[in-house]
Amino acid sequence: MARRKKIYEGKAKILYEGPEPGTIVQYFKDDATAFNAEKKDVIEGKGVLNNRLSEYFMTGLNNIGVPTHFIKRINMREQLVRAVEIIPLEVVVRNVAAGSISKRLGIEEGTPLPRPIVEYYFKDDKLGDPMVGEEHIIAFGWASQQDLDDIVSLALRVNDFMSGVMMGVGIRLVDFKIEIGRIWDGDYMRLVVADEISPDSCRLWDVTTGQKLDKDVFRRDLGNLADAYTEVARRLGVLPKNSAPLGKPKLIN
Ligand code: 5GP
Repeated sequence: MARRKKIYEGKAKILYEGPEPGTIVQYFKDDATAFNAEKKDVIEGKGVLNNRLSEYFMTGLNNIGVPTHFIKRINMREQLVRAVEIIPLEVVVRNVAAGSISKRLGIEEGTPLPRPIVEYYFKDDKLGDPMVGEEHIIAFGWASQQDLDDIVSLALRVNDFMSGVMMGVGIRLVDFKIEIGRIWDGDYMRLVVADEISPDSCRLWDVTTGQKLDKDVFRRDLGNLADAYTEVARRLGVLPKNSAPLGKPKLIN
Protein backbone atom coordinates (compact mmCIF):
# COMPACT_ATOMS: atom_id res chain seq x y z
CA MET A 1 0.00 0.00 0.00
CA ALA A 2 1.29 3.47 -0.82
CA ARG A 3 2.53 5.48 2.15
CA ARG A 4 0.37 8.42 3.06
CA LYS A 5 1.88 11.85 2.81
CA LYS A 6 2.28 13.52 6.19
CA ILE A 7 1.36 17.19 5.96
CA TYR A 8 1.91 18.32 9.52
CA GLU A 9 2.61 16.90 12.96
CA GLY A 10 1.47 18.86 15.99
CA LYS A 11 1.56 18.11 19.71
CA ALA A 12 -1.60 15.97 19.79
CA LYS A 13 -2.39 15.21 16.15
CA ILE A 14 -0.88 14.31 12.80
CA LEU A 15 -2.41 15.47 9.52
CA TYR A 16 -2.11 13.32 6.39
CA GLU A 17 -3.17 14.03 2.84
CA GLY A 18 -6.74 12.72 2.41
CA PRO A 19 -8.09 10.38 -0.28
CA GLU A 20 -9.76 13.19 -2.28
CA PRO A 21 -8.45 16.64 -3.10
CA GLY A 22 -9.51 19.07 -0.39
CA THR A 23 -9.59 16.39 2.32
CA ILE A 24 -7.25 15.60 5.19
CA VAL A 25 -6.93 12.65 7.54
CA GLN A 26 -6.57 13.82 11.13
CA TYR A 27 -4.83 11.27 13.40
CA PHE A 28 -5.19 11.63 17.18
CA LYS A 29 -2.04 10.77 19.16
CA ASP A 30 -1.86 9.72 22.82
CA ASP A 31 0.68 12.45 23.57
CA ALA A 32 -0.30 14.99 26.21
CA THR A 33 1.54 18.29 26.57
CA ALA A 34 1.02 21.33 28.74
CA PHE A 35 2.69 24.65 29.45
CA ASN A 36 3.90 24.98 25.86
CA ALA A 37 5.19 21.39 25.86
CA GLU A 38 7.32 21.84 29.01
CA LYS A 39 5.25 19.02 30.58
CA LYS A 40 4.85 15.91 28.42
CA ASP A 41 3.50 12.39 28.76
CA VAL A 42 1.84 9.64 26.77
CA ILE A 43 -1.65 8.83 28.05
CA GLU A 44 -2.75 5.51 26.63
CA GLY A 45 -6.18 5.78 25.05
CA LYS A 46 -6.37 9.60 24.99
CA GLY A 47 -6.22 9.80 21.19
CA VAL A 48 -9.01 7.25 20.81
CA LEU A 49 -11.21 9.13 23.28
CA ASN A 50 -10.57 12.54 21.71
CA ASN A 51 -11.27 11.17 18.23
CA ARG A 52 -14.66 9.92 19.43
CA LEU A 53 -15.50 12.97 21.50
CA SER A 54 -14.51 15.43 18.78
CA GLU A 55 -16.63 13.41 16.31
CA TYR A 56 -19.55 13.66 18.73
CA PHE A 57 -19.31 17.44 19.17
CA MET A 58 -18.52 18.27 15.54
CA THR A 59 -21.37 16.05 14.27
CA GLY A 60 -23.76 17.78 16.68
CA LEU A 61 -22.60 21.17 15.46
CA ASN A 62 -22.96 20.16 11.79
CA ASN A 63 -26.48 18.91 12.58
CA ILE A 64 -27.60 22.25 14.00
CA GLY A 65 -26.08 24.18 11.11
CA VAL A 66 -22.82 25.34 12.66
CA PRO A 67 -20.31 24.57 9.91
CA THR A 68 -17.27 22.48 10.82
CA HIS A 69 -14.46 20.80 8.89
CA PHE A 70 -15.60 17.34 10.08
CA ILE A 71 -16.70 14.81 7.43
CA LYS A 72 -16.59 11.40 9.14
CA ARG A 73 -14.65 9.23 11.53
CA ILE A 74 -12.57 6.62 9.70
CA ASN A 75 -11.35 4.40 12.55
CA MET A 76 -10.38 4.53 16.22
CA ARG A 77 -7.75 7.21 15.80
CA GLU A 78 -8.53 8.93 12.51
CA GLN A 79 -11.15 11.17 11.04
CA LEU A 80 -11.65 12.62 7.58
CA VAL A 81 -11.95 16.40 7.53
CA ARG A 82 -12.11 19.16 4.94
CA ALA A 83 -8.80 20.84 4.23
CA VAL A 84 -8.94 24.40 5.55
CA GLU A 85 -6.65 27.38 5.78
CA ILE A 86 -6.28 27.79 9.53
CA ILE A 87 -6.62 31.32 10.88
CA PRO A 88 -3.62 31.69 13.22
CA LEU A 89 -5.77 32.38 16.29
CA GLU A 90 -6.95 30.39 19.27
CA VAL A 91 -10.46 31.57 20.01
CA VAL A 92 -11.33 31.08 23.68
CA VAL A 93 -14.83 31.41 25.14
CA ARG A 94 -15.21 31.63 28.91
CA ASN A 95 -18.33 31.18 31.03
CA VAL A 96 -16.66 30.81 34.42
CA ALA A 97 -13.31 32.25 35.52
CA ALA A 98 -10.46 29.71 35.51
CA GLY A 99 -6.93 29.33 34.22
CA SER A 100 -5.27 32.32 32.62
CA ILE A 101 -8.10 34.83 33.15
CA SER A 102 -8.07 34.09 36.87
CA LYS A 103 -4.32 34.64 37.01
CA ARG A 104 -4.30 37.70 34.75
CA LEU A 105 -7.19 39.56 36.36
CA GLY A 106 -7.11 38.11 39.88
CA ILE A 107 -10.59 36.59 39.64
CA GLU A 108 -11.08 33.55 41.87
CA GLU A 109 -11.43 30.30 39.89
CA GLY A 110 -15.07 29.25 39.74
CA THR A 111 -16.51 32.77 39.65
CA PRO A 112 -19.30 32.85 37.04
CA LEU A 113 -18.69 35.57 34.45
CA PRO A 114 -21.49 38.08 33.81
CA ARG A 115 -21.61 37.01 30.14
CA PRO A 116 -19.58 34.71 27.90
CA ILE A 117 -16.25 36.38 27.14
CA VAL A 118 -14.54 35.75 23.79
CA GLU A 119 -10.76 36.15 23.68
CA TYR A 120 -8.13 35.70 20.97
CA TYR A 121 -4.61 34.31 21.27
CA PHE A 122 -2.06 34.41 18.47
CA LYS A 123 -1.07 30.82 17.62
CA ASP A 124 2.68 30.84 18.00
CA ASP A 125 4.40 28.30 20.23
CA LYS A 126 7.67 30.24 20.29
CA LEU A 127 5.84 33.25 21.73
CA GLY A 128 3.67 31.10 24.04
CA ASP A 129 0.40 31.99 22.23
CA PRO A 130 0.11 35.61 23.45
CA MET A 131 -3.31 37.20 23.89
CA VAL A 132 -4.18 39.68 21.14
CA GLY A 133 -7.01 42.10 20.48
CA GLU A 134 -9.07 42.86 17.39
CA GLU A 135 -6.75 45.75 16.56
CA HIS A 136 -3.75 43.41 16.25
CA ILE A 137 -5.72 40.84 14.27
CA ILE A 138 -6.93 43.36 11.72
CA ALA A 139 -3.68 45.36 11.55
CA PHE A 140 -1.59 42.24 10.94
CA GLY A 141 -4.09 40.84 8.43
CA TRP A 142 -4.85 37.58 10.26
CA ALA A 143 -8.59 38.22 9.83
CA SER A 144 -10.86 41.07 8.70
CA GLN A 145 -13.51 42.82 10.77
CA GLN A 146 -16.16 40.80 8.89
CA ASP A 147 -14.27 37.57 9.69
CA LEU A 148 -14.14 38.57 13.35
CA ASP A 149 -17.88 39.21 13.45
CA ASP A 150 -18.41 35.74 11.95
CA ILE A 151 -15.87 34.17 14.32
CA VAL A 152 -17.61 35.62 17.40
CA SER A 153 -20.95 34.39 16.11
CA LEU A 154 -19.55 30.88 15.48
CA ALA A 155 -17.81 30.82 18.88
CA LEU A 156 -20.99 31.80 20.73
CA ARG A 157 -23.06 29.22 18.85
CA VAL A 158 -20.50 26.56 19.76
CA ASN A 159 -20.68 27.77 23.36
CA ASP A 160 -24.50 27.54 23.46
CA PHE A 161 -24.47 24.06 21.94
CA MET A 162 -21.63 22.70 24.06
CA SER A 163 -22.94 24.25 27.30
CA GLY A 164 -26.36 22.66 26.73
CA VAL A 165 -24.99 19.24 25.81
CA MET A 166 -22.63 19.18 28.78
CA MET A 167 -25.20 20.50 31.26
CA GLY A 168 -27.48 17.66 30.11
CA VAL A 169 -24.95 15.18 31.54
CA GLY A 170 -24.17 17.11 34.71
CA ILE A 171 -21.03 18.88 33.47
CA ARG A 172 -20.36 22.63 33.50
CA LEU A 173 -18.61 24.02 30.41
CA VAL A 174 -16.23 26.45 32.09
CA ASP A 175 -14.33 27.51 28.96
CA PHE A 176 -12.99 26.13 25.70
CA LYS A 177 -10.71 26.88 22.78
CA ILE A 178 -11.59 26.48 19.12
CA GLU A 179 -9.77 27.12 15.90
CA ILE A 180 -11.36 28.48 12.78
CA GLY A 181 -10.51 27.62 9.18
CA ARG A 182 -11.29 29.12 5.81
CA ILE A 183 -12.70 27.00 3.01
CA TRP A 184 -12.49 28.49 -0.47
CA ASP A 185 -15.04 27.70 -3.13
CA GLY A 186 -13.78 29.69 -6.12
CA ASP A 187 -13.85 33.31 -4.99
CA TYR A 188 -16.28 32.53 -2.20
CA MET A 189 -14.84 31.94 1.27
CA ARG A 190 -16.58 30.59 4.35
CA LEU A 191 -15.41 30.07 7.91
CA VAL A 192 -15.79 26.74 9.67
CA VAL A 193 -14.91 25.32 13.07
CA ALA A 194 -11.73 23.25 12.59
CA ASP A 195 -9.08 21.31 14.57
CA GLU A 196 -10.80 19.42 17.43
CA ILE A 197 -13.24 19.92 20.27
CA SER A 198 -12.37 17.59 23.13
CA PRO A 199 -11.51 17.62 26.85
CA ASP A 200 -8.00 18.65 25.72
CA SER A 201 -9.37 22.01 24.67
CA CYS A 202 -12.20 22.58 27.19
CA ARG A 203 -12.56 22.96 30.93
CA LEU A 204 -15.28 20.61 32.15
CA TRP A 205 -16.33 20.49 35.81
CA ASP A 206 -18.84 18.11 37.38
CA VAL A 207 -21.82 20.28 38.32
CA THR A 208 -22.25 18.79 41.79
CA THR A 209 -18.76 17.88 42.95
CA GLY A 210 -16.69 20.35 40.90
CA GLN A 211 -14.45 17.43 39.85
CA LYS A 212 -12.30 18.37 36.86
CA LEU A 213 -12.86 16.17 33.80
CA ASP A 214 -10.47 17.87 31.37
CA LYS A 215 -6.80 18.46 30.61
CA ASP A 216 -6.30 20.31 33.92
CA VAL A 217 -6.18 16.79 35.45
CA PHE A 218 -2.88 16.41 33.58
CA ARG A 219 -1.70 20.03 33.87
CA ARG A 220 -2.24 20.03 37.65
CA ASP A 221 -1.48 16.35 38.43
CA LEU A 222 -5.01 15.65 39.70
CA GLY A 223 -5.26 11.99 38.72
CA ASN A 224 -5.65 9.80 35.67
CA LEU A 225 -6.46 11.77 32.53
CA ALA A 226 -7.83 8.81 30.52
CA ASP A 227 -10.24 8.02 33.39
CA ALA A 228 -11.53 11.61 33.35
CA TYR A 229 -12.06 11.60 29.56
CA THR A 230 -13.67 8.13 29.76
CA GLU A 231 -16.14 9.54 32.30
CA VAL A 232 -17.10 12.36 29.89
CA ALA A 233 -17.47 9.86 27.03
CA ARG A 234 -19.61 7.51 29.14
CA ARG A 235 -21.93 10.27 30.31
CA LEU A 236 -22.44 11.44 26.72
CA GLY A 237 -23.18 7.87 25.60
CA VAL A 238 -20.10 7.89 23.36
CA LEU A 239 -18.85 4.85 25.29
CA PRO A 240 -21.15 2.26 26.89
CA LYS A 241 -21.97 3.20 30.51
CA ASN A 242 -20.35 0.05 31.90
CA SER A 243 -17.25 0.08 29.72
CA ALA A 244 -13.89 -0.45 31.38
CA PRO A 245 -11.58 2.56 31.56
CA LEU A 246 -9.93 2.97 28.19
CA GLY A 247 -6.41 1.59 28.23
CA LYS A 248 -5.32 -0.50 25.31
CA PRO A 249 -7.28 0.33 22.18
CA LYS A 250 -9.76 -2.51 22.46
CA LEU A 251 -13.25 -1.29 22.65
CA ILE A 252 -14.49 1.13 20.09
CA ASN A 253 -14.92 1.53 16.42
P1 5GP B 1 -6.45 29.36 29.50
O1 5GP B 1 -6.27 30.62 28.70
O2 5GP B 1 -7.24 29.60 30.76
O3 5GP B 1 -5.15 28.67 29.74
O4 5GP B 1 -7.29 28.36 28.59
C1 5GP B 1 -8.64 28.62 28.26
C2 5GP B 1 -9.25 27.41 27.59
O5 5GP B 1 -8.67 27.22 26.31
C3 5GP B 1 -9.02 26.10 28.35
O6 5GP B 1 -10.16 25.28 28.18
C4 5GP B 1 -7.83 25.47 27.64
O7 5GP B 1 -7.88 24.06 27.69
C5 5GP B 1 -8.01 25.98 26.23
N1 5GP B 1 -6.71 26.23 25.59
C6 5GP B 1 -5.99 27.37 25.63
N2 5GP B 1 -4.84 27.24 24.92
C7 5GP B 1 -4.85 25.98 24.44
C8 5GP B 1 -3.92 25.24 23.62
O8 5GP B 1 -2.88 25.72 23.18
N3 5GP B 1 -4.27 23.95 23.35
C9 5GP B 1 -5.43 23.39 23.83
N4 5GP B 1 -5.70 22.11 23.52
N5 5GP B 1 -6.33 24.07 24.57
C10 5GP B 1 -6.04 25.35 24.88
